[in-house]
Amino acid sequence: MANETFDVVVVGAGPTGLLLASELALGGASVGVLERLESMDPTIKAGSVGVLAAEALERRGLGPALDEAERQMGEAVAKMVQQSGAQASPLAQGWKKIGGHFGGLFLIDPTRQREPERRFRGVNQLGLEMMLGALAQARGVPVRRGQEVLGFTQDEAGVSVEVRSAEGTQTLRCAWLVGCDGGRSAVRKQAGFDFPGTEPTLTGHQAVVEVDHPEKLLPLGWRRTPVGMMAYGPTPGRVFLLEFDGPPADRNAPVTREEIERSLRRVSGTDVCVTAVKTATRFTDNTRLVTEYRRGRVLLAGDAAHVHSPFGGQGLNLGVMDAMNLGWKLAAAVRGNAPEGLLDSYTAERHPVAERVLENTRAQAALMRPDPQTTALRAIISGVMETDEGNRFFGEMMSGVTGRYALGSDHPLVGRQTTNRVATVDSGEVHLHALMGEGEGVLLDAGDGAASRLASAWAPRVRTVRVQGETSRLLRPDGCIAWATDDRELTGLRESLSRWFGAPPTP
Ligand SMILES: Cc1cc2nc3c(=O)[nH]c(=O)nc-3n(C[C@H](O)[C@H](O)[C@H](O)COP(=O)(O)OP(=O)(O)OC[C@H]3O[C@@H](n4cnc5c(N)ncnc54)[C@H](O)[C@@H]3O)c2cc1C
Repeated sequence: MANETFDVVVVGAGPTGLLLASELALGGASVGVLERLESMDPTIKAGSVGVLAAEALERRGLGPALDEAERQMGEAVAKMVQQSGAQASPLAQGWKKIGGHFGGLFLIDPTRQREPERRFRGVNQLGLEMMLGALAQARGVPVRRGQEVLGFTQDEAGVSVEVRSAEGTQTLRCAWLVGCDGGRSAVRKQAGFDFPGTEPTLTGHQAVVEVDHPEKLLPLGWRRTPVGMMAYGPTPGRVFLLEFDGPPADRNAPVTREEIERSLRRVSGTDVCVTAVKTATRFTDNTRLVTEYRRGRVLLAGDAAHVHSPFGGQGLNLGVMDAMNLGWKLAAAVRGNAPEGLLDSYTAERHPVAERVLENTRAQAALMRPDPQTTALRAIISGVMETDEGNRFFGEMMSGVTGRYALGSDHPLVGRQTTNRVATVDSGEVHLHALMGEGEGVLLDAGDGAASRLASAWAPRVRTVRVQGETSRLLRPDGCIAWATDDRELTGLRESLSRWFGAPPTP
């Protein structure tokens, strides 16, 4: 990439960086991704993709790939259930029956949610990264591996980035730099972003192991023990271990077989021997969030902007939705037709979402401690989760489906993420992928066509489609509902189109 120039350089080819690069390319920006690893990291991390992230990826055409990855994961889970003889486990019923957990309380019931069809997907992180790598490639994004960003300087016109590879150290130039370089982000540190938060209190391990007596680790699923908390399964050999005696002595030390075995024995209260470790990772509940997502020409997305414990599987969701939110806005800035304030709305919208996730992961950590007071608290929270309202409260908190960006409208849909199926007048029910797959905004007109006529001035940035039902909606490229009306009143539509899509293109 030496001597090349890009509109945007993305640092890090994790899920956030790969998706952001694809979104930028879709918006017409020239973008390059720099990744220090030579190949994708196979370390076990996320085991699922959250509701909003999955729906956003479906809108970009990844529905079939998600279905296939989920089918494979289902097979792996079935194998684990069969091997362990645990046919009575809830896991034997399949993914669609599992609604997720709060603090290890697997009580969220999909059938009690307002929108039960909106569900997380059983797709692991490596599977997702492979899909996103293929998407970036299909969009012509160069993903350069074995390239570590050492530092950068920014001036009024752009950013000079220092990159080390096997060929030596080179400098390349871009107009914008985005750090998607994970929780220990070098971009965040060097740009001087504030990163306040709370210190770690626990040590966790996740691994895929072989043990001499797997039957000693049953039952499958999550359980609290006198020492901490553990999960066994849902896929063969996967163990998830929590101990609440402070952070690890050395966060940078490699994770060893002995370390996993010691933790597994302590937490499970068994004497199992770990005979092989296929993959392992160590984590804490270090919880931090930048105060702003942009400093000049440098922006952050994903774990680079926020770190928290993995409880409830929310990190990927945040990173994917950061990328969806930022991609089209930064592409508009690159094209030079971003309306005033568009790029700054990225921090304004995404910071509160991350703040809520950080808070609920702190609460989950508090709810998993192995003391009698926590046992009492868990009984009370379980009781709340048994009620319909309580179950929905926790379900919606973990899925984020009722979360709203504060866009200044009283309409209850405005600021929320759209669902993916719409009943059109001409073609019946269609998936939004058919309308938004190329990153367009869409006006869904349930009225007499007046809204479509108004919005048609913004073509091709905004498509117009006549739909059945009562509610007309304007969808931004990231799936956020920017405007809605339940009658034919078009108040605010023109302002909303200008706010998000700028002045109408001149014919
Ligand atoms: C044990 C565990 C379990 C988890 N479970 C879940 C779950 O079930 N669901 C969920 O949603 N999330 C889960 N997460 C969180 C999820 O893994 C992260 O939120 C996700 O990886 C963030 O993606 P990212 O792209 O922002 O960062 P990363 O995945 O960390 O990617 C950053 C990339 O940047 C590269 N990089 C770093 N520095 C440089 C540099 N200087 N130059 C070039 N490249 C660089 C890195 O090599 C890496 O490839 C879990 C995490 C852990 C540790």
